[in-house]
Amino acid sequence: MTPLESRGDGRRRVAVLGATGAVGQTFIRLLVGHPWFELVEVAASERSAGKPYSEAAKWIGADDMPPSVAGMTVLACDPSQITADIVFSALDSSVAGDAEPAFARAGKMVLTNAKNHRMAPDVPLVIAEVNPSHLRVLEAQRKGRGWTGGIVANGNCASIVAALPLAPIQQKFGISKIITMTMQAVSGAGYPGVPSLDILGNVIPYIADEESKVESEIQKFLGSIDAGGSAIRAGTFAVSAHTNRVAVEHGHTICLSVELETKADARAVEQAIRDWRGDESARGLPSSPDRPIVVSDRPDRPQPRRQVDTGHGMTVVVGRVRPDPVFDVKLVAMGHNVIRGAAGASVLNAELMLHCGLLGAS
Ligand code: NAP
Repeated sequence: MTPLESRGDGRRRVAVLGATGAVGQTFIRLLVGHPWFELVEVAASERSAGKPYSEAAKWIGADDMPPSVAGMTVLACDPSQITADIVFSALDSSVAGDAEPAFARAGKMVLTNAKNHRMAPDVPLVIAEVNPSHLRVLEAQRKGRGWTGGIVANGNCASIVAALPLAPIQQKFGISKIITMTMQAVSGAGYPGVPSLDILGNVIPYIADEESKVESEIQKFLGSIDAGGSAIRAGTFAVSAHTNRVAVEHGHTICLSVELETKADARAVEQAIRDWRGDESARGLPSSPDRPIVVSDRPDRPQPRRQVDTGHGMTVVVGRVRPDPVFDVKLVAMGHNVIRGAAGASVLNAELMLHCGLLGAS
């Protein structure tokens, strides 16, 4: 029985904050026509508030702006203006730090893509297939912060794509060290993002704050929840990240070298990745891909231009699993930064929470 069938009524009303940006537009695509959620409100900055969405947002997809959203009036990111009790946030980090707690204090569940609250020990940083048990800290969050809503975070787009193939490796063999190097798409910088004269035909070996985010978020995703369920303890393995911006539209490609706690050869590691389906609770939800990871047998894959839409953008493609002469194994992972690395992952988290009874009654 689905959560909808169990209530026998319509969908849960949701709003999108930061609805005019690159991630906000992806939320709109995923939420219009969603079987469990009904998009009823869109909000953005004071520059956009009061305008029809069609005027406020420069629609960046090849598709057309959904007519049901085009005529909506963009609201300010003020909890008193938003009636939905589930709020997806694609806010710029300059505003999310204060805005998101205000929504949680107003009793709303905020599923955020911004960096501001990700590393707080009482904020679950969740990939539905990897660490759904971390959602248990929500109770401590509510108690500790004295609010009735909540904040559940998504990782950085590169951290999510990296953490998915690392999860089966950690679960089966344990991990002691990781070195990772990213080649990140321009859409990861939002819209309008990186100036074309800086990125066309170029590689930029610097993304502000990105390396520390990738390092700490991988440790948190693969960490554990303490016995009392009040905080998440980061994994103790070492991570070193190099992050680069490349002239690719969508899809972050990530090279990983991994030292294992229990020694195994590359074939065993590849098999563990192939066999992994992720946590059972995240299977069969509307946004669950058939497989969270697929392994490509072709020697020149994964490639973003050819494979970024695998599993409707929710599947990470892994290739080139091979021995590493310094550590134990190395591989390449690639995933859609705006879908799996942002909006799609948040919608999947919300589906999981609804399915598990963590989003209250309608
Ligand atoms: P973006 O294209 O720059 O969009 C930013 C959004 O924030 C816009 O809707 C903008 O509204 C709104 N905003 C800016 N200042 C505001 C203010 N003072 N008050 C209220 N709203 C304000 O950025 P993005 O790429 O969509 O990223 C959104 C968030 O997700 C960021 O925190 C980013 O770090 C994170 N993220 C992005 C990706 C990715 O692949 N792009 C992946 C993971 C996480 P206006 O149009 O009205 O200015």
